[in-house]
Parts: sequence; C-alpha cells; structure tokens
Amino acid sequence: MYPTRRQLLKTAVVGTAGLRLALAQQAAPEASGNVKLADDLYIVRVHGEGAVIAHTDRDGVLLVDGGSAAGSSAVLKAVSALPNGSGKIHTLFNTHWHPEQTGSNEKLGMAGAAIIAHENTRLWLQQNITWPWNGQKFKKLPKIAQPNKTFYDKGTLDSGIRYGYISDAAHTDGDLYVYFPQQNILAVGGAAYGQGWPLMDWWTGGWIGGIVGGLQRIQSVANRDTKIVPAVGPVLSFPDIAAQVDMYGTINDRLSQMLYKGRGPSEAVEAKPAKEYEARMGPSDEFIRRAFESQWAYLSPDA
Ligand SMILES: [Zn+2]
Repeated sequence: MYPTRRQLLKTAVVGTAGLRLALAQQAAPEASGNVKLADDLYIVRVHGEGAVIAHTDRDGVLLVDGGSAAGSSAVLKAVSALPNGSGKIHTLFNTHWHPEQTGSNEKLGMAGAAIIAHENTRLWLQQNITWPWNGQKFKKLPKIAQPNKTFYDKGTLDSGIRYGYISDAAHTDGDLYVYFPQQNILAVGGAAYGQGWPLMDWWTGGWIGGIVGGLQRIQSVANRDTKIVPAVGPVLSFPDIAAQVDMYGTINDRLSQMLYKGRGPSEAVEAKPAKEYEARMGPSDEFIRRAFESQWAYLSPDA
C-alpha cells in the first residue's frame, strides 16, 4: 500500500478541498458523552479515554476497544447504560496493544468474552515493553486478559460485521479495522487520528510511511459516505482521510529526502517539514522527530 509518487499527486488534488473540511470539523471541541451513530451503534466517550464503540444485538454487546485500566469501570458502566446495553459483553476487539485500548481486557476476559485482535497485538501484550524515546514501561497482561481469538488477515462475524488487518504498520504492527456494513461505520483505532499529531510508536512497528499506507487502506475499505471513527478525536469523513493522505504523504516525502541525504533527527526537526500544517495540527517537533526515527527504524534497520 505504499504510495507511488503518481498516487500521491492524485490524492493531493483531492486533498486541498478535504483539508478545509477537516479544518472545520476539528475546530469543534471534543464532545463529551455518547455519540449515537445508529440505533444499535454508539461511541461511548468517557472523559480522558479513547473512543469505545458499542454495538448492541440480541445476544448482548460488542465493543471495539475498552478504554484504559483506570477508566474501565466508568467505560463499562457507560456501556451498560446505553439503550439495550445492559446485556453481556460477548465480544471485544483490540484495535492495537496500547493500554488506552486494552484496559478492560482482564475484566471481560474473566467474564468469558471473545477478545479479538491481530496476532501481533497478542504478541506485544505477552511481553513487557519499554519505549526508548521516553523510557515509559508497559507490563505484559495476564493470560486471561490477552486476546483469545487472533487472526492474520481478515474475518467476518455471524452478525455480518467485518474486520481486517491494517498491514501497513500505521500506528503499530497489529492495527485492525472493524467495519459495520449496515451502519456504514468504520472503526480504525490508531491508524487515523481525528485530532492532533498521532503517537508515532515505531518501537512496536508503526512508521510514517505506514500512516500513509494505512490511510489509503482505510480509503479502500470505506466509501464516500462512510463515517470513520478513530480512537482519538472526532469522527472523520472520507474527504478528511484523503486530506490526511495528502498531508502525511508530503511530510513522508520530505523526511525521506532528508534521510537519503544523510541528515539526522535533529536536522529533520530544524527543517520544519510540517510547518504549513502546524496552525491546524499544533506544534510538530515531537512528531517529526519520532517520524524521522520511524523511517530510520523501518528503512535502515541495521543502522
Ligand atoms: Zn495507540
């Protein structure tokens, strides 16, 4: 899914209009409380937590991501207060391994839920992780909290809900999407951000080229009317995604040029390759440093 220059140019044309749309949407403050997507589909928003998507059916409730461990009780309480939300949570998707997504795994695993994730996500949750850029440590999850139904490529549930691997390594190397065809809603976890610069977790496989590829994969799963729900920030439209492909494609191009000229991360930050996006996206230095490191990690693993 890595774009050719021709594809980048093509999306750039779409991108300018989309960018303005994205601007208007992201100027709105983050809504608190639940967002109703359909009668049986909600985004549960608990303060300080990432998006939790809840689908209710006659068997109970399906969740896409479960909030952090600290927020888990509040998240599950908010889910049970939804219309038809008091049934058993039978299925939980982990869009990736980060603790903001996997904090309800232990409770729901003990309650017998199917925890669906990409196999790479399970592998990360089985080991202790330390991020090299800030020393932050993550403890492996107990067995009962680990995904118990993993996959490599894609799958479909009896309810018709589809899921698949975002193999481009956008946010981590275990990103997945969940598509609700009846409601035309696509949950994408960390593979797209609705607000601000994404966390660039290159230690567990994400990289700036993967962000571009992942967004293009989202475009190929979605259609013009699909609403795309990221883990962070407001719901995105199809043109919003096109605008992001354009922006991250441009930044990725600029960074690779610097990498091939032998520049280092500090020089990349000083060159301000995301300057024109900062008014909307916020200061970019931290993101650019991580993004450059991610190219280094991805393109020259032996360096
Ligand atoms: Zn994440």
